[in-house]
Amino acid sequence: MSETRPPYVIDEMISAKAIAARVEALAKDIHEEFAGTEQLVLVGLLRGSFVFIADLVRELDLPVEVDFIEASSYGNAMESSREVRILKDLRSGIEGRDVLVVEDIVDTGHTLTHVVGMLKSRTPARLKTIALLDKPTRREVDFRADWTGFSIPDEFVVGYGIDYAQRDRNLPFIGKVRFT
Ligand code: 5GP
Ligand code: MG
Ligand code: MG
Repeated sequence: MSETRPPYVIDEMISAKAIAARVEALAKDIHEEFAGTEQLVLVGLLRGSFVFIADLVRELDLPVEVDFIEASSYGNAMESSREVRILKDLRSGIEGRDVLVVEDIVDTGHTLTHVVGMLKSRTPARLKTIALLDKPTRREVDFRADWTGFSIPDEFVVGYGIDYAQRDRNLPFIGKVRFT
């Protein structure tokens, strides 16, 4: 057990079916952007993006490579820390290559701003970003992903890879946490 959680229920916000349809549409956009690429490196941000990247990669009929970065952003279960640290870096170099960074949620924007800055300094050919969820009202730094799955209000969400104190990643839908 990593942390204690007060009693809560999860209210469904985005169904598994709606997510699947959106992922399919996003994959078409990515195809259009990267058609003819020699190799596209999908960079997933651990751990929240692991389900999204797994579904997305299977919709892509392109030569892809999959790699991961782990950045710490949340100091505890529900509160963001503004300081971003890289806990695990890429295995492969990305110089001169096409890169798509895959994130679960853009919240304050600090994490992706930091990660994109770091990856751009390695001079990839093209670097694009995709996030399944966006909370635009929470932004503290100006950051926009190139593609977003769903724009959502300021609610703490779980499911489809996203956790509450390491739980609920296995839910097939996105739901919001409501304390009871
Ligand atoms: P940012 O640096 O944009 O504030 O942080 C983004 C990260 O915060 C996301 O990748 C995610 O890990 C975490 N985060 C933001 N909102 C939520 C949420 O509603 N639920 C969970 N579990 N994590 C969140
Ligand atoms: Mg994340
Ligand atoms: Mg988390």
